[in-house]
Amino acid sequence: MKKLIFATLLVIGNIACTEESTVKPNTTSTGTTTGTGTTTGTGGTTTTATDYSTNVIKAFTAYGAKNVSSVTVDGDYILIKTNGVPDHKSPYFKGSAWESTLYVNDTRSSFKQAPGSYVAAINYTFKIPKAPVESSSKKTLGTATIGVALNGVPLFNQYAAGNTTISVGTGEYVSFDLYGGHPSPNLDYHYHIEPNFITTAKGSDALIGYLLDGFPVYGSKENGKTVTNADLDAYHGHTTKTAEYPNGIYHYHTTSEAPFINGNGFFGTAGTWTK
Ligand SMILES: [Zn+2]
Ligand SMILES: [Zn+2]
Repeated sequence: MKKLIFATLLVIGNIACTEESTVKPNTTSTGTTTGTGTTTGTGGTTTTATDYSTNVIKAFTAYGAKNVSSVTVDGDYILIKTNGVPDHKSPYFKGSAWESTLYVNDTRSSFKQAPGSYVAAINYTFKIPKAPVESSSKKTLGTATIGVALNGVPLFNQYAAGNTTISVGTGEYVSFDLYGGHPSPNLDYHYHIEPNFITTAKGSDALIGYLLDGFPVYGSKENGKTVTNADLDAYHGHTTKTAEYPNGIYHYHTTSEAPFINGNGFFGTAGTWTK
């Protein structure tokens, strides 16, 4: 999958987030247009399709992010519209339209702010299947965007500039602010790791968002235990009952180590995102 990212890198400082330079404004990612994709799975059992649109709408409504303008059903999909501006403070509001109210100085010694980047409002539409099922050919996208958090901020994959996997405490990781996000040179604020503003408020085991295949993402705990990569499959998920899906559903978990949110492709078939 990583080989699919080949656009010109726009480097602003050695800690700037550059992987997203593959995603230019006004482009559309369909999940299949940027390359041949990489089939990483061996297929699997087909799960029964269940319409979960009510669950998804309820989750976003309950969270209530004002920057998420609508969550609606459109045929077989759910459309989530958001401007991507986080609902928490960030050092990356410096120089933005919200600097006076949302800028905070990130005083952590480990933090190194990516120069030249700040938060901008970007009109996103995430289109996810309302009845997600396991895909027989697990694929990644050719772009960094893999989903959306309940607060309307995009979720990104685990890859940084040079198609390297982001590692804790080094490289691009140090530019993640106190809530785990940063903007790219395209000014699109996003999370590669757990959005801890959400899990601090809602709990480490809380539902935090959805990937483009329509399956939910939960925080790093489950039943009081910290989830590790060893507990999850190659796509970074598993199937259990959850608070929002009492009959059980496949879901992803965040982990403190790479790949953080999503593993080696989507468990289901990814929808699309546009901006
Ligand atoms: Zn990034
Ligand atoms: Zn779980």
